[in-house]
Formats: sequence, C-alpha cells, structure tokens
Amino acid sequence: MGKVAVAFASAAVVAACSVAAVMVRRRVKSRRKWRTVVEIVKEFEEGCDAPVGRLRHVVDAMAVEMHAGLASEGGSKLKMLLTYVHDLPNGTEKGTYYALHLGGTYFRILRVHLGGERSYLDVQDVERHPIPSHLMNSTSEVLFNFLAFSLERFIQKEGNESNSQGVKRELAFTFSFPVKHTCISSGVLIKWTKGFEISEMVGKDIAECLQGALNRRGLDIHVAALVNDTVGALSLGYYHDPDTVVAVVFGTGSNACYLERTDAIIKCQGLLTTSGSMVVNMEWGNFWSSHLPRTAYDIDLDAESSNPNDMGFEKMIAGLYLGDIVRRVILRMSQESDIFGPSSSVFSQPYVLRTNSVSAMHEDDTPELQEVARILKDLGVSDVPLKVRKLMVKICDVVTRRAGRLAAAGIAGILKKIGRDGGGGITSGRSRGEMQMQRRTVVGVEGGLYMKYTMFREYMEEALVEILGEEVSQYVVVKAMEDGSSIGSALLVASSLQS
Ligand code: ADP
Ligand code: MG
Repeated sequence: MGKVAVAFASAAVVAACSVAAVMVRRRVKSRRKWRTVVEIVKEFEEGCDAPVGRLRHVVDAMAVEMHAGLASEGGSKLKMLLTYVHDLPNGTEKGTYYALHLGGTYFRILRVHLGGERSYLDVQDVERHPIPSHLMNSTSEVLFNFLAFSLERFIQKEGNESNSQGVKRELAFTFSFPVKHTCISSGVLIKWTKGFEISEMVGKDIAECLQGALNRRGLDIHVAALVNDTVGALSLGYYHDPDTVVAVVFGTGSNACYLERTDAIIKCQGLLTTSGSMVVNMEWGNFWSSHLPRTAYDIDLDAESSNPNDMGFEKMIAGLYLGDIVRRVILRMSQESDIFGPSSSVFSQPYVLRTNSVSAMHEDDTPELQEVARILKDLGVSDVPLKVRKLMVKICDVVTRRAGRLAAAGIAGILKKIGRDGGGGITSGRSRGEMQMQRRTVVGVEGGLYMKYTMFREYMEEALVEILGEEVSQYVVVKAMEDGSSIGSALLVASSLQS
C-alpha cells in the first residue's frame, strides 16, 4: 500500500472512531438524562406515599381538628361553620322550587317539582354553564348582575306553565365558598377560594347581594336559603335515605359537611334545635396535618397560588389542582432533560394541564398511549417517545392515588368523630365507655372529579375499606349524587319553608 493510501485509511479509521465516540457519548448522555427523569418520578412517588398507617394518622388528626373547631371559634384550621340547617328534607315537601348554584367552575340553574312523596321528585330544566373567567376577579355588582340575568333568561324560557298562579318563586342560592351564617337564609362571605378574587365581597351578605340584583331586574324571586354545596348534597342524600349523615364534594374544590349533635358544638353553648342536631359545614379544604405527604411541588403550587398558606388539603385532593401538580413534575423533568423537545416551555404555564386531561391520560388503555400523545399534541408538544408517555401516566397515577387515599382518610376522620368508624368515636359530648352499635351510614358524594374520574373514585373507595376494615366497611355506603348540591338545596328551601 502506498503512503497516500495508508494516510487515507488511517484518516477514515480516525473519522469512524470519532463518529462512534460521538454516538456513544450521545447515548451515554441520553441514558443519563433518562435516568434523571426516572429518578424525578421515583422521588415524587416516594414523597406521595400514603400507606394505611400514615392515613390512620390523618384520620386521627381530622377527628381531633373537628373537635377543636367545634370547641372554640378559631380553635382549628377547620372552621366547622354552623349552617342553621337542623331539619333535612324528609320527602313530604310539595311545590316548585329553584336553585342557582355558583360552583368553582360551573354555575347551574334548575327547577324541581315535589309531589309530597319521595318518588315525586321531578328535576326539570337543568342548565349548566362554565362561569365566564372574567367574573372571577370582577366586582360583586358584575358577578351578581350576571347571575340575575342568567336566572331571568331561565325563567323566561319556562313560559307560564310552572308558575301559572303568578306566585313568588322561592330560590336556593347554592354557594360553594365559606360563609358565616346568621340564619339559613343569610350569611357573609369569609374568604374566596378556588381562584376567585373579588375582595370587596368579603364580609358582605351573599344572599342580600343576590336578592338586590334580582330586585334590580324586577324579578319576583325570593332568595329563601343560602346553602353550601355540601349541605345541598347532604339534603338530597337524606331525602332519599335518612341514613345519610355525611356529604362530601370533590369538584373544582373539595369540602364536607355532616350532621352533628348540638351538644357537641361547644363553641355555641345553648344552641337549641328541635332535632337536637345541626349540619356543620367543615370547610375541610383548609385542613392541615404534618402527616399529609407533601412534596416540593405542593409547596411551590401553594406559594404561587392566589391563596398561599390556605386550603392545604384542598390543594392535594381537588380538581383545580391535580392537573397542576402533574404539570409541575413534568416541568421539572423537561428542565433537567430535553425529553419533551423544544416546545416544552408550554409546561411553564400555570394550570395549562387540566385535571380532565390527567384522567384522560391516566385512563388511556390504548397500547401506544395514543390519548396521551393527542393531549400532548394539543398542548403543542409532539413526538414524545412511548417510554416518556408511560412516565406521564405514572405521574397521573401517583397524584390521583394520593388524592383518593387522602380523601378517604378525610371521610374516615368524620366517621371517627361521629362514632361510625367501628371505634368509640372521640369523646365530644359522648359519655366515655359508651359503646356505639355499628349503624348503617351513608356518605353522599358529588362533584366532577368524583363523578368523572373513575381511578380517583376507585382509589378513594379502596382506601376507605383499608382504613375501616372489611367488617365496618359493610356498614358504610358511599353514594354518588349527580347534581346533588343544586337539587338538594332546592329541597332544603322546600323543607325550611314548610317547617
Ligand atoms: P364545580 O366545582 O363548579 O361545582 P364540578 O363539580 O362539575 O363543578 O367539578 C368540576 C371539576 O371537576 C373540574 O374543574 C375538574 O377539575 C373536575 N373534572 C371534571 N371532569 C373531569 C374528568 N373527566 N376527569 C377529572 N376531573 C374532572
Ligand atoms: Mg360543585
């Protein structure tokens, strides 16, 4: 071989070697990045771990905080608000009633007709619309004018059939935010949650605001009750089944209420009701315990929210937030690697990933995870490899499993407080040593997260059995109630006007 040929051959070998070296380096780098993202997910999963032992601590903390919130005003992060609802609808109610419901994402209007027997509950004309986002930080006048206008349109559509005698229409205002009541039909807003920010409304009487707006439009409608959504759900549950003593909402936000004995409401000594009990609105979204498995992502979500240091439990279990926890983990993965490609900046946008998308990804049963790919594409992120898509499903699973399990612990905490958990309850108002016979207990549940996200529901129900044990669980019935908040509030107006 000539010198020139040798030089060419060795140059070719050198070139081949350096190409191979680049490829090896790339492969090593890509493997290292993959290990990094897997590590991020693993660490997140460990941080969210909620084994039954930990859940039991949460159960105990919930029961203790409930007790503290009932003992004194400001005694706990749980406000344990009085609702002045002591008689729940029993099925004998008659007439036509309306409900207007302001939730966290939707507002709904409906009419119910009651025939005096349980079987004669006719729910008519349910309207459900997303709340226009500009209203969430507008003014009280703009918000209530909008609600009055929507109600007017609803009533115009019904013609004269429903109100042929021209009698005043009786309305329940179902309001899914914390209110300090003075009676069933009035109360002032304590604070906004779920991203609403109309600060001048805090401290105002909510029923009066709506009544004023209805009067200004010349509508002959009477706001007969101001009802927390959970209390509406409890009312519908009780109407169908008097063993219903607890109601929980898992929608945009989360909250619970239950029927408490008046003598256990220590902060309101001398409170007398005919039934000896009153519905207490727990405002459990604000529950906190050091036993809750909190991660750095939860801390950041809270710090960057419109209500930092507030509603810690809600931020781990409710629909508004689950998508954003998932987004934060994905964002970290994209910052530490390039597995999502150049369009990954979309993940820096708060709340860009909704919980509806989380459930769609989580429940994607196509072998190639096409639904996950579609959702990512809709966000502008294409060509994400299958193994990365699988990791995303894993993140959705971790977030939702934790949410479902914590939700179950919350419910078990209430059952413990009222002595329906198979133990003796905690001692409030109940004589020590008094053994509780296990009674059938129905927990009414509603809200978009619970109704539409099967995996959330399954994780919650599975954990409830784990916490309570097979035997006690047989006595605890979890019942789904679609539109329970609104329908139940209308029933509550009927029963409160008839009692
Ligand atoms: P609101 O909170 O306004 O009363 P809903 O009870 O219907 O309304 O809850 C709506 C919330 O439920 C949505 O904001 C979303 O977080 C959650 N949600 C709705 N549909 C789904 C779904 N398919 N999967 C998961 N979460 C859902
Ligand atoms: Mg709701």
